[in-house]
Amino acid sequence: MGKFIKVVLGVLLAIIVLIGFMVIRTVISADNKSVAHTDVTPPDVTPQLIDVDADALAQNLAKAIQFKTVTMQNHEDTDWPVFLELQTWLAQTYPNFHNAVQSQQIKTYAQLHIWQGSDPSLAPIVFLAHQDVVPASEEENSGWDYPPFDGIIADGFIYGRGAVDDKGSLISILEAADRLAASGFTPKRTLMFGFGHDEEVKGTGAQAIAELLKTRGIKPYAVIDEGGAIISGLPGTQSPVAMIGVAEKGYLTLILKAKATGGHSSAPPSYTAIGALSKAIVAIENAPFESGLDIVSTKMLKAMMVDQSFGKRLAISNLWWFKPLVEDSLRSTPSSNAILGTTIAPTIIDAGFKENALPRDATAYVNFRIHNRDSIASVTAHVRKAINDPNIEITMSDNIGSEPSPISQIDAGPYLWLKDVISQSFPNTIIAPNTVIGGTDSRYFSIVTSDIYRFAPYAIDVSDLSRFHGLNERISVEAYAKAVQVYYLMLEKAGE
Ligand SMILES: [Zn+2]
Repeated sequence: MGKFIKVVLGVLLAIIVLIGFMVIRTVISADNKSVAHTDVTPPDVTPQLIDVDADALAQNLAKAIQFKTVTMQNHEDTDWPVFLELQTWLAQTYPNFHNAVQSQQIKTYAQLHIWQGSDPSLAPIVFLAHQDVVPASEEENSGWDYPPFDGIIADGFIYGRGAVDDKGSLISILEAADRLAASGFTPKRTLMFGFGHDEEVKGTGAQAIAELLKTRGIKPYAVIDEGGAIISGLPGTQSPVAMIGVAEKGYLTLILKAKATGGHSSAPPSYTAIGALSKAIVAIENAPFESGLDIVSTKMLKAMMVDQSFGKRLAISNLWWFKPLVEDSLRSTPSSNAILGTTIAPTIIDAGFKENALPRDATAYVNFRIHNRDSIASVTAHVRKAINDPNIEITMSDNIGSEPSPISQIDAGPYLWLKDVISQSFPNTIIAPNTVIGGTDSRYFSIVTSDIYRFAPYAIDVSDLSRFHGLNERISVEAYAKAVQVYYLMLEKAGE
């Protein structure tokens, strides 16, 4: 009995020491909030931002929205001349910028503008934004509060398709660069501006720009594109979070085709096309890819933890112990689950034509967003193994397929320059790296640099995120004006 009590006391003591250790780690991390934690910007920032007329800026963005630069899946269905109309308007509206840069049309509608720096030894910084937008219904009852291509300013917001994605970036970069050029500024470092024309379909414009840089032997210091913003209202987090996309998931669609004999449904064989295809889809869903925290998501959690409840801080400060628990909680929401691993999404299924006839084939499209630990080849091999049926033909869709991006430097190199700009512009804001789960034009630039940052300086509420590509896309007049001010600072600091 005496021995048993000793063991119990020993275990209790170990538990107390362990808890004490975890609490100390948690408290140290919490203390970082008061002691100028590097991932949180100070409460009072020295205003270095230029004066702007928010209403005039909003008018220009509203005007840009009125050019219906909608890209359609089929190249021929797109109204391409309207892109040139937009570009003519841009040249008229931003003359100082256009005078300062050398411009080149790429694949007719994409543009590369180069603002030559005075010091050729410095590698350039490339700013990307795309001119095209996704379609939006203009029908009466489409659900839009204002017609999507009218560029309406109401209740302090600019409404319309592209208000954020991505005319918001395109126009605010031009507003900032035009003002900077008008001030007589000459950059030391060359600044490049790549404006793709088909990001929402294939991104061939951006791809051609990246290839051109490669043939010219240009290795940018950094590439800045859409994909991250300053998000407020994230669950469990009080401060806004500046999400810097340091990585982007890859993209792959596999087409599965099951073949069978077909025939009359009154005497069906045991192997049918629809049955085999269904089993194949279920087999893939039942063989999920490896999932878990990686270096980016771990750093993101750690940066965001300062604002969280004691319980969450305890868990995140002690991932060596709580990692499975934290990962399980992230798996409970589709969007946070998506950052943990490669995702599987069956999106199209096509088979059969008559209720009493067996189809000879059945086809399904399954879309994968590839995590950094996987690749197009490994995902395809994984799927083939999971299906384990030689009768199912597996081919890659000839649509956009891309490998996951490399991970850009975090807390080093250009990341620090961005962090500096954010610190000087947005008080009390957490700065966190993240993985972008959608696709951006910047993916093509990994052939010339591994430092790609997906970030636009918009303050956006989390509830507005679903409006991009959806109904009532909008940006507040205030947040938009601020974006112009911050881009100005970003360009100025990039060129220094
Ligand atoms: Zn976009």
